[in-house]
Amino acid sequence: MTTGTHFNYYQVCRRKLWLFASGINMEHTSDLVYDGKLIHETSYPQRSERYEELEIDGIKIDYYDPRNKVIHEIKRSDKVEKAHEWQLKYYMYVLEQNGIHDTTGILEYPELRHTARVVLTDDDREKIVEMTQDIQQIIHSEDCPPLIHAKICRNCSYYDFCYVEE
Ligand code: SF4
Repeated sequence: MTTGTHFNYYQVCRRKLWLFASGINMEHTSDLVYDGKLIHETSYPQRSERYEELEIDGIKIDYYDPRNKVIHEIKRSDKVEKAHEWQLKYYMYVLEQNGIHDTTGILEYPELRHTARVVLTDDDREKIVEMTQDIQQIIHSEDCPPLIHAKICRNCSYYDFCYVEE
């Protein structure tokens, strides 16, 4: 099964996906999870009535508005990233697979004061099918994908693990 986490890590780094899927979990050494939670609570304390937490088929949506079928995703990042869009598209796709059609995605960047609307197109659906096949191939492979030597490695929870010998 491809979970939301698998899908996200695939967008970021295949090696990260593989390490995570192999059960090597370093997330506790990172503050990112905690910070993510914190921004939800401090930026939108009034939201609890309108939004529900929705867990379905390997994904967990923190802010789902069932009446308007809107998925909100709040990003702490100070940069708009393609991976964030794909994360939302994947959520919309999974909901569709589970009979919840015509959802809309809203990406919010409180620190940038920026909001973006995300829609799922047929082209996206095709790409998601291809990506999930690729993800399954990677996580079932014996080989750990190579280091990507990217800027994002610095903020990755596997940084120490990946660069221990350098
Ligand atoms: S440190 Fe870099 S290469 Fe290693 S898993 Fe993270 S993003 Fe990938």
